[in-house]
Amino acid sequence: MKRKLNTNDEPVAEEPATKSTEPKTSFSDLGLDPRLIQAIAQEKYREPTLVQCKAIPLALEGKDVLAKAKTGSGKTAAYILPVLQAILKRKQSNSSPFTSALILVPTRELADQVHKVIESLTAFCAKDIQAIKLSDKVSDAVQRSLLSNSPDIVVSTPSRAWTNINSSALSLEKLSHIVLDEADLVLSYGYEEDLNNVAKKLPKGVQTILMSATLTTEVDTLKGIFARNPVVLNLEEKDAEGEGVSQYVVKCSEEEKFLLIYVIYKLKLIKGKSIIFVADVDRCYRLKLYFEQFGLRSCILNSELPVNSRLHVVEEFNKGVYDIIIASDENEVIPDEETPKESAEGGEADGEKAAEAPKKKKQKTSRRDKEYGVSRGIDFKNVACVVNFDLPTSAKSYTHRIGRTGRAGQRGMALSFVIPTDQYRKHPPTWVESTEHDEKVLARIIKQQAKVDKVVEPYNFDMEQVDAFRYRMNDALRAVTKVAVREARTRELREELLKSEKLKRHFEENPSEMHHLRHDGELRAARTQAHLKHVPDYLLPEDARKTGQGIGFVPFNKPTDKKDRRQKKFRAGKRKSNPLKSFKARPKTNKKK
Ligand code: AMP
Repeated sequence: MKRKLNTNDEPVAEEPATKSTEPKTSFSDLGLDPRLIQAIAQEKYREPTLVQCKAIPLALEGKDVLAKAKTGSGKTAAYILPVLQAILKRKQSNSSPFTSALILVPTRELADQVHKVIESLTAFCAKDIQAIKLSDKVSDAVQRSLLSNSPDIVVSTPSRAWTNINSSALSLEKLSHIVLDEADLVLSYGYEEDLNNVAKKLPKGVQTILMSATLTTEVDTLKGIFARNPVVLNLEEKDAEGEGVSQYVVKCSEEEKFLLIYVIYKLKLIKGKSIIFVADVDRCYRLKLYFEQFGLRSCILNSELPVNSRLHVVEEFNKGVYDIIIASDENEVIPDEETPKESAEGGEADGEKAAEAPKKKKQKTSRRDKEYGVSRGIDFKNVACVVNFDLPTSAKSYTHRIGRTGRAGQRGMALSFVIPTDQYRKHPPTWVESTEHDEKVLARIIKQQAKVDKVVEPYNFDMEQVDAFRYRMNDALRAVTKVAVREARTRELREELLKSEKLKRHFEENPSEMHHLRHDGELRAARTQAHLKHVPDYLLPEDARKTGQGIGFVPFNKPTDKKDRRQKKFRAGKRKSNPLKSFKARPKTNKKK
């Protein structure tokens, strides 16, 4: 097949112009089983999305498909519906049980999500189709017993699938479909060997469906592994990742990050839900303990937490129980082609530390779940703002992170802190290794965003106004000692493990009681300072004191239609302006100009 390079210099094969790929306007036009149509109606999908229109007919024809599709595009239903259709069709003549579809995903979180979509789309044929996920931390024996019933569909990460294939618990003998979701991410999780092993066990003629957010060389490798010549759907979607996201960047010193984040959240300059990305697991706890000093509640997501807790946090966040998630995406370091190796791996540039780096990394990753993933794939709902408290180390990771907001046609905002090179490592209590090359990474981010006509605008806070909060910041930071961070990390892990066990056993039977188990409880810093939880009047901008609007009100920088804007609140999808503009509070004298 003829190959071309797209605007991102990614190799792409052209989609052949076949009649069957013409967009269809309704699900019933796609020729799906009435029971599936009924479930689709129950899910309130009114019409197929672009990827569904294009991929479903091809998959139903039995073609191998590689579709460029991101989370939020409806990609999961795009591959699940043809798989379900094939199983239902087969069961009309042959009802003997065997596994006919294997769905491979990079993370447990995604496995859980995909399994849920299968459950909802089989609501009217549940007795005919059995699907299991191998993502829960259940013992090998339990996994074997689940597989012994020969479920029609198995959803799994590649490593878990291979373990079970290798032990003969999972048979691929009669497999008819294999799906790889988030295909471009799968290799970055180190699953190549597992995938190669799985591929060797596939029977001849298996239909392959690959869903990938990008069509990169990694995807070419996967195509190679599965030895297919798929129809490539290089769909240009309107609602691409980061499409509706206003992007801002603040250059500041290491300690000023802590100052600004405190002001932003304490004065409620961001309304709605946020995900704050930080460099590593320790940093999650440092920021959480710091927030706690000011009475700001947050929950944590990282690879160290038990999978059930992670899933529960996301679920509750989506329901609106929590407003702030502090997440580290340490598994998702996706280097740019030109990323300096040391920065992509979070290592140090100088020789002495570079020598230490591998050892450190090994220690750090030992407890982690390599099947954890947060910045890709997970369907976070209604996120108003993504804050890159610590900038990621590549432009690609940046794109994935900001794609958590501004989804499904809504608007969103991304705010990133960047440490100028001359400020790096200047403040021992707050510096973090990964920010060493922030300025270079920012340059790449700007270049990458420009390719999709997006601008990353500098944002300048009025530091004179913010400075009034510096004393409190220092007070709070002093309480967040290394020991406090370590203890918080251990305590949270212990508590979450307990909750995780409870969750697994109890909530399967009592799903409605989920909300009793909160994940944003206090972890306690070295000392508690009750007074920090309140913002005294004298710290507020003058206008806020006068109007009595209290916390949450900060005058807008633009003198025009000021009154109007004061009343607006930022909610994803509801307004276009950037809420942080509201904090560009100028001293009164400036306003008269
Ligand atoms: P996905 O891209 O598979 O992660 O799907 C993102 C979201 O879109 C999920 O919440 C789905 O329930 C929803 N969705 C999938 N297909 C459709 C459709 N045809 N119409 C409306 N919503 C959909």
